[in-house]
Amino acid sequence: MTLVDDLQAILGPDRVLSHPLELLVYAKDAGVTPGEAVAAVLPETTQEVSACLRVAARHGVPVVARGTGTGLSGGAVPDEPALLVVMTRVDPAWEIDAASRCAWVGAGALNLDVSRGIEGLGMHFAPDPSSQAACTIGGNVGTNAGGPHCLAEGTTVVHVLGVEMVTASGDVVVLGSAAPDPIGLDLRGVVVGSEGTLGIVTRVLVKLTENPPAVRTLLLTFDSLRAAAATVSATIAAGIVPAALEMMDQPMVIAVEAFIHADLPVDAAAVLIAEVVGLDEGVDAEAATIERIAVEQGATSVRVAGDDAERELLWKARKNAFGAVAQAAPNYYLHDTVVPRTALADVVTQIYEIAERFELEMMNVFHAGDGNLHPLVAYDAREPGKAEQVQAAAEEMVRVSVAAGGSLTGEHGIGLEKRDLMGLVFSPVDLDAQARLRDAFDPDGLMNPGKILPRGARCYDYGMSALPESEPS
Ligand SMILES: Cc1cc2nc3c(=O)[nH]c(=O)nc-3n(C[C@H](O)[C@H](O)[C@H](O)COP(=O)(O)OP(=O)(O)OC[C@H]3O[C@@H](n4cnc5c(N)ncnc54)[C@H](O)[C@@H]3O)c2cc1C
Repeated sequence: MTLVDDLQAILGPDRVLSHPLELLVYAKDAGVTPGEAVAAVLPETTQEVSACLRVAARHGVPVVARGTGTGLSGGAVPDEPALLVVMTRVDPAWEIDAASRCAWVGAGALNLDVSRGIEGLGMHFAPDPSSQAACTIGGNVGTNAGGPHCLAEGTTVVHVLGVEMVTASGDVVVLGSAAPDPIGLDLRGVVVGSEGTLGIVTRVLVKLTENPPAVRTLLLTFDSLRAAAATVSATIAAGIVPAALEMMDQPMVIAVEAFIHADLPVDAAAVLIAEVVGLDEGVDAEAATIERIAVEQGATSVRVAGDDAERELLWKARKNAFGAVAQAAPNYYLHDTVVPRTALADVVTQIYEIAERFELEMMNVFHAGDGNLHPLVAYDAREPGKAEQVQAAAEEMVRVSVAAGGSLTGEHGIGLEKRDLMGLVFSPVDLDAQARLRDAFDPDGLMNPGKILPRGARCYDYGMSALPESEPS
């Protein structure tokens, strides 16, 4: 029996895809690197995921978990021909425990659907990636997704209390729980952000966050990006952690305004969207403080959203920034690095210089409060040599971010994109420890091989009797 025969015996012919055209589509994510799949399966239950993984293990075929493929770092793109386990149909009846403010949801549920599903309870799921209408909770766990409102609330790892996961051998385990102080090693925390390398998450115990009673949203306009960045640092230094603090530079504002028509100031060098939440009196006071700080730093105008419709329009503008870029060029490369907030202006200046040197059209939209940069290069991949130029510039952008005390990724994950740059932030000892942890979950190396860790990360695989000396990172 072939792999496909065995999978069809479990799922029937309709939920096992093996046509090259179908596989071409599924073996790609929203990033730039293509991959190759031997088959793609569409299970609907944990038991079906388990049965598929047992079959894959028997055939010695690697397995890659896929949500909706909105990832940007190649996490769901096979590095070698693999079985794709597409999780979008794994969305069993949710178990909502409103009193404990948590719920078990299926890994295939869309992020926004989770918040919509509980809005009647006055609660929501806090991580809100800009892709939230399209990405799955399982994918959010895989990448430890962030979003504009993760500045005060924290990223996915803070909002996932437990996971049900199928291991490479097909065993089903539950890691974490709703207990306030779980005992033992925090394996739940290890799984969040592991990009499908430890197992396939089938259900997620999410924390539900109370909707705030009051919200104020400000649009702050600046005639220099440095002044906008200074406002970000000064706001946090003043002891205010806004719910969101997002920046767009002029090229991005122009693109978004042409797309969404939110009355954004297209002549400004940069804009900040700041949002504060809490009780009525508190949000008014915090909004006034942010306005004062912004003006001190040189803001040329401050607009407070007058009602929910205006507030929603501002967020629609922000969250559709990437879509707006399609007007500029057929392809885009969305970078993701993170730097200390105080280094924002200096690093962004260097990033502009890199783009200019490589003659690239670049615009910026980013979670400024987190120091999470998203330079976005619009280009035409059909132009000879252009894709290579974009890649070379990307690596330089990562390097200047790391040199400024930052890291490789703020939220998109390592995937294939940054795997070979892991040595910039981790020593061989660190990488070896991560490889050993991974082996404990997946001794045969079948779960999303080739991701996150660079080749050679397992020092002991190479017969080294002692690990190379290195500084701890
Ligand atoms: C326009 C746009 C805007 C975006 N904005 C944001 C943003 O604001 N913040 C942000 O963090 N990201 C953002 N992203 C990136 C992306 O949406 C997130 O990384 C998201 O979490 C991916 O979810 P997905 O369902 O598409 O996962 P996929 O892309 O299918 O997979 C992502 C990774 O998770 C693993 N995975 C998927 N499902 C499971 C599972 N059930 N169990 C174990 N591993 C699994 C995969 O193997 C892969 O490594 C954006 C992407 C786009 C295209």
